[in-house]
Amino acid sequence: MRRNLAIFAALLCIAAGNASAKDWGSIATPTVGDARSIGGTANGCIAGAAKLPLDGIGYQVVRVSRNRMWGHPRTLAFVRSLGVEAAGMGLPPLYIGDLSQPRGGPMTNGHASHQNGNDVDIWFNIDPKPDLPASAREDIKIVRLVAADEMSTDASAWRPEYEHLLRRAAAHPEVERIFVHFAIKRQLCSTVGSDRDWLHKIRPWLGHDDHFHVRLSCPPGSQDCQDQQPIPPGDGCDPTLDWWFADAIERHKSLHPAPARPRTPPKLPNACKGLLAAR
Ligand SMILES: [Zn+2]
Repeated sequence: MRRNLAIFAALLCIAAGNASAKDWGSIATPTVGDARSIGGTANGCIAGAAKLPLDGIGYQVVRVSRNRMWGHPRTLAFVRSLGVEAAGMGLPPLYIGDLSQPRGGPMTNGHASHQNGNDVDIWFNIDPKPDLPASAREDIKIVRLVAADEMSTDASAWRPEYEHLLRRAAAHPEVERIFVHFAIKRQLCSTVGSDRDWLHKIRPWLGHDDHFHVRLSCPPGSQDCQDQQPIPPGDGCDPTLDWWFADAIERHKSLHPAPARPRTPPKLPNACKGLLAAR
């Protein structure tokens, strides 16, 4: 009997270990207990995640049907705090996009990261927002800040408030890095004055022309959480930024990867095995 139980437990572990992104996405509730981020942002999960309230001071959660408004409580506290700061700056509510799934893990669409409860996407749209019920916030207005050739920001869309907002977000000590389109990074490099240490955290990337992606460091008490490699020192306004603009062929390859090359998802840590089957 005992042996059968052991075999059954082992099978369960295997099942969870081989769980697909679809399995992780179909779980509607978090596990109970203390919050713990496990693994890395691109190969992790979260136990005891909390749900971001759909409305708060200075923010509204959008695309609610995706059920990706879960995260470590510290991530939720960051969003709420930035909402209050944005409202204090006189900005209309921020649209909050994806955080993580109720138990984190890989997603079937949209992101390779956002897996351990420490990532959040915030839309660049700072237009006044209609007061819509959550169910009517699926199809939101997209504001793109970058010109079609991707060489600069779009002068008709860029506003100084975006610089102020990114500066506020970067000032949070728990924020480890913020991804923006490389043309947005270059815009900041040229317009931010001598008080520019915060630019260190602003990282150039593909996409991210309609939202910025905030990543928090591993929270205290999450021993199994893995931080990324640290950002190189400096403000990042250097040849590493120029690369994005110079190497158009490489960039094109990254933007349009060859089709039909199946991506092997990174292996999840052992501590994530069983999280799906847990209560
Ligand atoms: Zn993101």
